[in-house]
Amino acid sequence: MKQLFVRIVCSMLALLFALNCAGMGYRVEPDPGRSPGSVNVMDPEAVHVQYLGTSGFLIYRGGHGLLTAPLYSNPHIFKVGFGRITPDTVRINRLYPDQQDVKIEAILVGHAHYDHLLDVPYVALRHVPEAVIYGNASVARIVSAADSSLIGRMKVLEKQLSREGRPGSWFYLADSTIRFMAIESDHGPHALGIHVMQGEVRTGFKRLPRSAWAWREGMTIAYLIDFLGPDGQTDFRIHYQDATSHYPLGAPPSLAPPEIHRLDLAIVAVGSWFQLPDYPGKLLRNHQPRNIILAHWEGFFRSPLKAPKPIPYSARLRSFIPYIEENLPEDADWLLPRPGAVYTFLPAR
Ligand SMILES: [Zn+2]
Repeated sequence: MKQLFVRIVCSMLALLFALNCAGMGYRVEPDPGRSPGSVNVMDPEAVHVQYLGTSGFLIYRGGHGLLTAPLYSNPHIFKVGFGRITPDTVRINRLYPDQQDVKIEAILVGHAHYDHLLDVPYVALRHVPEAVIYGNASVARIVSAADSSLIGRMKVLEKQLSREGRPGSWFYLADSTIRFMAIESDHGPHALGIHVMQGEVRTGFKRLPRSAWAWREGMTIAYLIDFLGPDGQTDFRIHYQDATSHYPLGAPPSLAPPEIHRLDLAIVAVGSWFQLPDYPGKLLRNHQPRNIILAHWEGFFRSPLKAPKPIPYSARLRSFIPYIEENLPEDADWLLPRPGAVYTFLPAR
């Protein structure tokens, strides 16, 4: 009964925000944050980061890369609140980038909410057939329900996480030129302190859940992603989060030499940032990333074929961007990524 009440209240709130605020968001143009041509995209050391929308990224160098969970289907808010959701395979095929020269070996999933996981099984089957899907146990139960052939391509991470500042396991990809570590995190509230779709997916579904409310998040996971140079040492380090978190949950662990390396890029989630105290300021101040990408900023009840607009109510970019600028390291840069755009970064030299 309580769950039904929360569901109705949240649906109505979301609907009000969508109706009342859709035209009132901060009309900010996505900003590449650097002048075109300032980075040589042909440099073999360059790391390319393509924003796929929501928290999806294609991150690659030298023909090897990984994905973070993309979303293209963007079901309408009525379907999310009261109806059925399914992957829009036509839209996925239209928008998924044609990167045949990049071998994708992993899809990293932060948590099992539909806006991160809905399209993952189809993308894995159709577009990245060699990739292993990494995520929590709830992610595994949902992915396995989508297609039994994905069961053997799923890696559950709960037992190999970095926790309380202690390192977890490294997973190596791409002839050991890329590695990543999963980090215990949590998931901040969505609105008015209310956090929806909490808990674990426990039942064995026979197909993808049709109700968005069945996509319970499981443990939220952040990731540290390293690109390794010819000497086997980290030369570019990314910290990735697909949801807000209560610091230090989700933060990079303390590593010993020779694994110590400054963050070259922090990818943070924008939506509902103000629901937590000082997010992601503590991360920026304590870990000093050289670059920051502000992801999960655009409305995901809206077709990605339309021009992106900030998530109604929860992006609050007019406040967020000054807050980010206040907390940035002096030498750092930030950008608000445009869905589909590729950004290129070089290791510090
Ligand atoms: Zn979520």
